[in-house]
Amino acid sequence: MSDSTRPTILIVEDEQSSATLMLLLLANHYETEVAHNGERAIELMKALRPDLILLDVVMPRMDGYQVLEAIQELYADDPVPVIFITGLNTPDAEVRALSDGAVDFIHKPFQPDIVQARIRLHLELQYKTKALTKANKELERLSRIDPLTELANRRHLEETAAHEVDRARRQQRPLSLITLDIDHFKKVNDQYGHIIGDLVLKAFANYASQFMRASDFLARTGGEEFVFLLPDTSLDNATDVAKRFRLALESFNIDIGNNEKLQIRVSAGVAQFTDSDINIEGTFARADKALYDAKQQGRNKVVAQQASQASG
Ligand code: GH3
Ligand code: MG
Ligand code: MG
Ligand code: MG
Repeated sequence: MSDSTRPTILIVEDEQSSATLMLLLLANHYETEVAHNGERAIELMKALRPDLILLDVVMPRMDGYQVLEAIQELYADDPVPVIFITGLNTPDAEVRALSDGAVDFIHKPFQPDIVQARIRLHLELQYKTKALTKANKELERLSRIDPLTELANRRHLEETAAHEVDRARRQQRPLSLITLDIDHFKKVNDQYGHIIGDLVLKAFANYASQFMRASDFLARTGGEEFVFLLPDTSLDNATDVAKRFRLALESFNIDIGNNEKLQIRVSAGVAQFTDSDINIEGTFARADKALYDAKQQGRNKVVAQQASQASG
């Protein structure tokens, strides 16, 4: 019976007596598998993912170094610690193993306690490395997310926009963006307090996410400011999207408790990326200018960049 909480160790050893000795040594603490040659080791590695590999060097056909190379290829994304365990007793063999990427080198005849201790150490190191990698990935993810609304933040938007600019250029496809700013949002805070203000921002973010298409990208870029990035979308189509969104908001009621409902309005600026834009910054600037015009014209409006701005 396999016990999934026990680490699995693959023993690669061509001599039956050595293999049996190692099995006896490890069976109490680990799940074990034995391969008597390199080819069988690779087969087994494809079927099970060992937590650690004990690897002999001198074997017929494929030697330990060749097996190590195959292991590294197989587990390129998620390396498995490999300990050489060999009768070869030259500094060269040891240096080569370690510089090829083995984590340790044990000489035969081996001391059982030392083998146990080193296995424990390397499993522990591997476990800690994985935990760190996982924590780093999570931090990386969090660094792109706005904690209040869980939308992408400005940094994430900038990265995505750079990527979409490359794609738009390569594929000669249009790329547009809409900058949105909630109208008179300060009044919401003034009248209902910051907690309700936050709730309204979250509800708005949720509504906007549901409104957009799967290929669109939505980010919160500031307090009550949001951006839609629209790949494969011309200025006219993006303007249409913004207008439909503005209109849809008129029938969106936000429940703020105590049987009270609240509505919000937005002003929007729309711009399209053009070949003469060095990067997306120019496009953002035109959208922001259009947004400013929408505010000037009385708010709750969509304004597209002026035709003369499109080329420059
Ligand atoms: P306008 O129509 O000109 O955009 O008016 P406005 O009141 O929306 O704009 P203004 O820039 O004067 O005020 C923005 C307000 O947004 C002020 C600020 O307190 C509020 N705000 C920004 N971030 C947050 C947030 O995370 N939570 C809450 N509750 N309020 C926020
Ligand atoms: Mg051997
Ligand atoms: Mg604002
Ligand atoms: Mg505002």
